[in-house]
Amino acid sequence: MLTEIQIKKLLDQMNLEEKIGMIHGDEIFATKGVKRLNIPPLKMSDGPRGVRREFVGKTWQGKELSDDSVSYFLSNTALAATWSKEHAYTFGKALGAEARSRGKDVILAPGVNIIRSPLCGRNFEYMSEDPYLIKEITVPIINGIQENDVAACVKHFAVNNQETDRLKVNVETDQRSLEEIYFPGFKAAVELGKSYTIMGAYNKLHGDYCCESEYLLKDILRDRWNYDGVVISDWAACHSTKKAAEAGLDIEMSVATDFDNYYFADNLYNMVEKGEIDQSVVDEKVLHILNLMNKLNMLDGTRKKGSRNTSEHQLGILRAAEESIVLLENKDNILPLDAAKLKSIAIIGENAVRAHASGGGSAEIRALYEHTPLAGISMYLGGNAEIAYAKGYTSEKDVDKHRYFDLREEARRIACAHDLVIFIGGLNHEHDVEGKDRVEYALPYEQDQLIEAISQVNENLITINLSGSAVDLSTTKRCSKALIQTWYNGMEGGRALANVLFGDVNPSGKLPFTFAQKLDDYSSHSIGEFPGGESVNYNESIFVGYRHFDTRNIQPLYAFGYGKSYTEYEYSNLKITNSADGISVSFDIKNTGEYDGKETAQLYIKQTKCTEPRPEKELKGFAKISLKKGEMKGIEMSLSDEDFSYFSSQTNEWVCEKGEFEILIGSSSDDIRIKRSIKL
Ligand code: BGC
Repeated sequence: MLTEIQIKKLLDQMNLEEKIGMIHGDEIFATKGVKRLNIPPLKMSDGPRGVRREFVGKTWQGKELSDDSVSYFLSNTALAATWSKEHAYTFGKALGAEARSRGKDVILAPGVNIIRSPLCGRNFEYMSEDPYLIKEITVPIINGIQENDVAACVKHFAVNNQETDRLKVNVETDQRSLEEIYFPGFKAAVELGKSYTIMGAYNKLHGDYCCESEYLLKDILRDRWNYDGVVISDWAACHSTKKAAEAGLDIEMSVATDFDNYYFADNLYNMVEKGEIDQSVVDEKVLHILNLMNKLNMLDGTRKKGSRNTSEHQLGILRAAEESIVLLENKDNILPLDAAKLKSIAIIGENAVRAHASGGGSAEIRALYEHTPLAGISMYLGGNAEIAYAKGYTSEKDVDKHRYFDLREEARRIACAHDLVIFIGGLNHEHDVEGKDRVEYALPYEQDQLIEAISQVNENLITINLSGSAVDLSTTKRCSKALIQTWYNGMEGGRALANVLFGDVNPSGKLPFTFAQKLDDYSSHSIGEFPGGESVNYNESIFVGYRHFDTRNIQPLYAFGYGKSYTEYEYSNLKITNSADGISVSFDIKNTGEYDGKETAQLYIKQTKCTEPRPEKELKGFAKISLKKGEMKGIEMSLSDEDFSYFSSQTNEWVCEKGEFEILIGSSSDDIRIKRSIKL
């Protein structure tokens, strides 16, 4: 590592042209280095679920050398559904190692924007509707990534919650929602995760583009959160030279290949030369970048070596994918299936055979392999059961209506002829995709009609919904005996699903966002706007996700934090001690059912009477523990003043009001098992 003085010396030796080269893209995914001073270029790559395929330097043309195949990690929604900090850390560590092994310095991940509407095309890259869950998952990811001498780039700062008009839409929302909902994930990434870089979003906040917002980049990021890392623009999110440079953007990246025409290239050079922008503005950015390179050991040759496509990474992905799968229904305990007794099985649905790694926009990757659900089930059964497959529906564009019937008829035929049907449908990256939002909450491709038709001929229907966002599952729920939510679950997704279906793994995933009965039940649609026009107003304020459903007594189809198990858990013995050091909460959980398993106990707080409106409950803690059949374990959690505080719209500051609070402990947000009141 170089000393502060050595870094300063390096800066002093650089001329303006060299400095300018370091603060804008000189390739689509790299800046320029300074050869004569042994400063390398900064190399970046997407993204959140694996290192993106390689492009030929200054172009968008794929390199196609097939040496860029990598591990395909589960998407962030899936990771959040594990509610496991351990898996988040393992994920980050492996992702960072793969990025390093591909020669990258910055991995453009994780995505931590709030899931505000189920229609946002990029929800699969984000984590949750709840800022606390995001925080708890984000920090270990960043720690894991950065252990590899690779920088995380937490994105997209801020309020980037939709894809419609994402390049220019203006977000209007109140201060309280920024403080309580939209900022905490970023704040944790910066303050606790110490993310070396952060990406400025495309959209505007209160009239200013995020990449030229003095409020976001100076007041919040640098002054309030004491951020000393590098701010990188999203690709083409910078719209000015002087304003963006002076607001605190460090590096301008873009999608165009005329690199000298970037705002932070010749334009900035000329303005500094003419004295219109102070040279110190550029120096500060270069200093941030040199410090980043120093932290990554890029300047003194002692850098860590990466690794990719290792069996350790693949195993980590498998274990996390297994724990991300959420069991929503299990009527008559149809699951787990007994492989020894299963003679034949009908598998229906395009997602049974569809690979997803290469879709979604910038989250695409060239996966070393991807086990689809059909492959996973077939590998599990090992030839001992007959498997019949029918597509049932198609995602082909402009298909003739009759094609759906034909496909449906074929599906009905095989459903009739087998004891058991597993339908595997949901969304794909035509819908969960960067650059556009979904237009409907319903399942596409007439899947509801198909599910209905199958259930009429075979009541032993197990439905697997694979998606990165909430979809309308009302018909599916009504027609299926068992219902499972799975995700873009990485290269081992198919195997993970089979392990859950056949009971080698007891499901322990919990929903990281609410599945509503209908679209209008979401506050972003009924109270706020989505997708809005030139501006989008978040009139719902802090009442996002379950904060809205619970406060207004709207029954969701599946609540935030919900997920069943093959076993049962009993909660008891809640004790709360209030001391000068804070409040500690302890309780016991017993596995009272027939299977070993893992349970995520969730702690919510409720302020009984508050001066200002407050949600019915807010998540403030959780713990995932493993319990053998019959085993009981004690859990302890602690709460600080911060956990009881809210951001007052009246005084514009965080307040912790004295008075009565309820501590609610449950298995999901709508299944509170034990509670107790305390006085602060
Ligand atoms: C996306 C970013 C991504 C960047 C580089 C942008 O379009 O919004 O998330 O990191 O492209 O590919």
